Amino acid sequence: HNANLFCALRAAFPRDLDQIAVETTSPQGEPLLYTWRDLDHASARIANLLASLKLPEGSRIAVQVEKSVEAMLLYLATLRAGYVFLPLNTAYQSGEIEYFVGNAEPAVVVCTPGNFGWVSKIAFKAGTQHVFTLGDDRTGSLLERAAHQADDHQPVVKQVDDLAAILYTSGTTGRSKGAMLTHGNLLSNAVTLKDYWGWTATGGPDGRGDVLIHALPIFHVHGLFVAIHAALLNGSKMIWMAKFDPKAVLAAMPRATVFMGVPTLYVRLLAEAGLNKDATKNMRLFIAGSAPLLIETFNAWRERTGHTILERYGMSETIMLTSNPYSADARHGGQSERRGSTVGFPLPGVGLRVVDDAGKALPVGEIGNIQVQGPNVFKGYWRMPEKTAEEFTQDGWFKTGDVGKVDERGYVSIVGRSKDLIISGGYNVYPAEIESAINDMPGVAESAVVGVPHPDFGEVGVAVVIAKPDAKLDGEAIVAQLKSQLANFKIPKRCFVATELPRNTMGKVQKNLLREQHKGLFA
Ligand code: ATP
Ligand code: MG
Repeated sequence: HNANLFCALRAAFPRDLDQIAVETTSPQGEPLLYTWRDLDHASARIANLLASLKLPEGSRIAVQVEKSVEAMLLYLATLRAGYVFLPLNTAYQSGEIEYFVGNAEPAVVVCTPGNFGWVSKIAFKAGTQHVFTLGDDRTGSLLERAAHQADDHQPVVKQVDDLAAILYTSGTTGRSKGAMLTHGNLLSNAVTLKDYWGWTATGGPDGRGDVLIHALPIFHVHGLFVAIHAALLNGSKMIWMAKFDPKAVLAAMPRATVFMGVPTLYVRLLAEAGLNKDATKNMRLFIAGSAPLLIETFNAWRERTGHTILERYGMSETIMLTSNPYSADARHGGQSERRGSTVGFPLPGVGLRVVDDAGKALPVGEIGNIQVQGPNVFKGYWRMPEKTAEEFTQDGWFKTGDVGKVDERGYVSIVGRSKDLIISGGYNVYPAEIESAINDMPGVAESAVVGVPHPDFGEVGVAVVIAKPDAKLDGEAIVAQLKSQLANFKIPKRCFVATELPRNTMGKVQKNLLREQHKGLFA
């Protein structure tokens, strides 16, 4: 048996390989179609090119390119050839690439033609043997070289436990760590999600089942694994967008059934006047994750479209962990409600528990540290054995670093991250509680509360608040209002009104930047 993930994906291709697998537009705006046969042949050619390089087993293939179908094919080719795929955020600059390439020591680096000069210098210095280029318009040396290769390729035999990819975490709480994911991790999660989210190969706009709008970056778990694996494993067509453009997504909806987005994408779609029940009537499912979805967004979406967004929760180290139900979940008394402000139930096969700082299990409803277990949980951090050992418990559970609770009905809510917890005068202050009180005030669009050093209290909270368009806010008035609602130790000592919160590409608020910015306030 070959546990190579590519084998499972390939086995799910439709029998008729001439059907369209991916529909996209070139950077010049021309329509481009790829059949299933195209995906098979093109990934075989790249796999054969990689094989011809005679790389040592376990070699990393580091990739920093613009999103394109060929970039996805390079991922599939890397699986086929049995190497380890290592995608890098396209926003990373030379200092960051130097760290990642130096840390991962990839045998092959693939970069955009425009970055070849500086990337290759960094790569060769780190001992990389081969640097290829890949443009978003099918240009570059990778495809030129691959064009001479045969278009069939037998996937290299892999065990469940063999590495398939290293994904660097987003670096929201500190330096990014390389999460080592195996073929078994990726396949088990993909199969679970395909089932849990009711992917279907019948019905839909063209009678061939689900069609996915893929508008996420592919250097991250969400766009690379959750989205691509589900579509391929279901033999589903993807409408592939190199960049998120709300108008293009709206225009594609009548021909699609599933959309996945980070919360900011939903906010931007809501800003489109054309978003309504009619525009979304063919859609089956809207999925959100990677960052908390505001309840306002969840409610506004339901009002405007009649659809209830399904929020789920995961991380680079574990792929997906929990999900709101798509349909009645027999494990939870047949509950099928998708509840806003929750991330749903632990996925089938995933163990999830909430513990206190001493590691003792907490009763239902109490807030604590989330720990998880399952076939989806990674092998460890790349070249960080101590960090890996620290983040697993004695009995083998992974400490997510997220703080949350499970309610009496089994729904999990994420309250924040343990690193964001504020300890003020010895009391635990959960930023999410303060943020939600602020967000409920009129005129507030969103907010972030962070802890900064304070000579008396150790730490105190500082709030940064964003006003709704046309609303005028006053920081002192917000603090005054909070005082009538919350215990004194929870009240932020200062409240700033800003125009936006610092966010990374996945829509995560970068609280480390806010802490850095305000750390001298009381020093
Ligand atoms: P780093 O580990 O480097 O600090 P990161 O944790 O942001 O960065 P990722 O692995 O990309 O890197 O993100 C995983 C985190 O994203 C989770 O631990 C969780 O905090 C957050 N997250 C994901 N989905 C949700 C969600 N639906 N609601 C709230 N938070 C979420
Ligand atoms: Mg993390």
